[in-house]
Amino acid sequence: MAKTTKGQIGVTTENIFPVIKQFLYSDHEIFLRELVANAVDAEQKLKALASTGTFKGETGDLKVEIELDEKGKTLKIKDNGIGMTADEVDRYINQIAFSSAGEFLEKYKDQTNIIGHFGLGFYSAFMVAKKVTIESLSWQEGAEGVKWTCDGSPEFSMGACQKEDRGTVVTLYFDDESAEEFGTKGKIRQLLDKYCKFMPVPVVFGKKTEWKDGKSVETDEDEVINNTEPLWTKAPSELKDEDYLNFYRALYPMEEEPMFWIHLNVDYPFTLTGVLYFPKIKERMAIDRNKIQLYCNQMFVTDHVDNIVPDFLTLLHGVIDSPDIPLNVSRSYLQSDANVKKISTYITKKVADRLEEIFKEQRTQYEEKWDNIKLFIEYGMLSDEKFCERAMDFALLKNTDGKYFSLEDYRKAIEGAQMDKDKKVVYLYATDAEAQYGNIEAAKNMGYDVLLMDCELDSHFVNMLEQKLKDCRFARVDSDTAGNLIPKEDKVKPEMSDDDKKALGELFKSVLPEGNEYNVEPENLGAEGAPVILTQSEFMRRWREMSALGGGMNFYGSMPEAYDVKVNMENPVIARIWEDREGTAELLRQVVDLALLEKGMLKGKALAEFIARSEKLLV
Ligand code: ADP
Repeated sequence: MAKTTKGQIGVTTENIFPVIKQFLYSDHEIFLRELVANAVDAEQKLKALASTGTFKGETGDLKVEIELDEKGKTLKIKDNGIGMTADEVDRYINQIAFSSAGEFLEKYKDQTNIIGHFGLGFYSAFMVAKKVTIESLSWQEGAEGVKWTCDGSPEFSMGACQKEDRGTVVTLYFDDESAEEFGTKGKIRQLLDKYCKFMPVPVVFGKKTEWKDGKSVETDEDEVINNTEPLWTKAPSELKDEDYLNFYRALYPMEEEPMFWIHLNVDYPFTLTGVLYFPKIKERMAIDRNKIQLYCNQMFVTDHVDNIVPDFLTLLHGVIDSPDIPLNVSRSYLQSDANVKKISTYITKKVADRLEEIFKEQRTQYEEKWDNIKLFIEYGMLSDEKFCERAMDFALLKNTDGKYFSLEDYRKAIEGAQMDKDKKVVYLYATDAEAQYGNIEAAKNMGYDVLLMDCELDSHFVNMLEQKLKDCRFARVDSDTAGNLIPKEDKVKPEMSDDDKKALGELFKSVLPEGNEYNVEPENLGAEGAPVILTQSEFMRRWREMSALGGGMNFYGSMPEAYDVKVNMENPVIARIWEDREGTAELLRQVVDLALLEKGMLKGKALAEFIARSEKLLV
């Protein structure tokens, strides 16, 4: 093609450039990734041709160079890859690139959540440029240079040009707005770091600088911005712990060291590589979820991997690289994609495998790290049935003495002492080791063990375990008197007429704080047993906690607090009060206040009065 030709780009819309600008308004920056990716592809194709012997010349140092002219407001993306002949430019750019961009827009014009806005390729240059030129020289013998120019209307011109070296130079002439946004070294560097950090061919942006005579000066050496062989592309057998830690530091310079990692590597039935790290998780709400980066053949796509991995896995950090995740689709479509489902199942399984391996082979370290991975594992168990099945083998329970048990071992340890009269094993747990100290000690004195369940998901977790583990029941350590937590036989209740029971109820309610509901029950808890014990029903309390966590059970959340008030009729003080109701008004207050004090419910004026009364009783 010796003379310059003009033509119309094969798209139906009269002028689709404004459309594309609007369509991808918030994500204009991806133009750079798309153009660098094309350049990298061209290099890879040349490598492939050289390796099969089709290309017999010198490949030279394959690299992509980015040149910014801040003043001239232009950006060049240069490669020494396969290049294109005039015919190829006509086919790939005029016909394919533009028509596929047109189709793409037509199909997705109402959807702005296509993953990483894929599929626009070369065309995305027009999101930022008012004019684009391509100068190219194909690898093929006797090829002539070709220059293509398009000024943002659907018209282009194409003709021969002098180009000495193989490859392609794409030049963008920024429009004014884009020049301001993207036309600085700092911005281009930032975008290269974001999108091209691990591309498989060296990407050069300017020269390395060094400090000389107190100022930074350019050297002759190319500044390569990427690592062409990131950790996840290497064989796990070649890598040491330090390599994984270094890679983590490079990805997340501000984060604490991770606890474990998993190297993913599969090529059938889909291709996926990557490394996932377990960060230290202390609080679910404080976790930044967008820490897994998704790559496609070492090209950054997105850090929003929700819909690709199960929700609980978004708590992990790291990199997933797969060419088999469809990127030209809306996010909502993703979850139903067969490959994505397989990938998600695979990752879940790998995570479970790794945890099980550490549980079995490095039990001490596993226990040491448990507090920091507990939230992750509990969340996974609660939200993912498959993971839950696996995790039943490696989930730990921690007791109030700081000892850890697997679910199976724990059951064996408590089965003997904590079986109730209905042959159910009662798991006792505390949610606050300080506040429930008295109850914990009382339970321990009975020979029981008490678990610590003080994590934010524990109330859900307890419900779930109760369903999964056979013949068991969970009871919070303060849900009853220590002696009643695990009833061994049906207890004989005091004999009392209904009228007396009613009178007893009224007597105690008259001194209990208002605003709550009380169910007063006479009990025989022995002469040594406490006179009055306040407990809150396990059932009610759990519903209340779940509704506070947003379980939707708001009906329970808005009910008044309900307490069981157990009055120990065998206690001599109670016996005295019951016999001489008139003469023991102060004593009645005192025993009720003591029970309230134990529960942390005695406050303000009532507390001051209690103290004054106690002092009076001392003298
Ligand atoms: P895609 O890369 O998805 O195929 P593009 O619109 O980005 O779509 O590019 C269309 C075609 O143009 C590419 O498939 C490739 O054949 C050709 N092409 C684009 N850029 C280059 C380049 N720098 N070197 C060689 N060929 C290129």
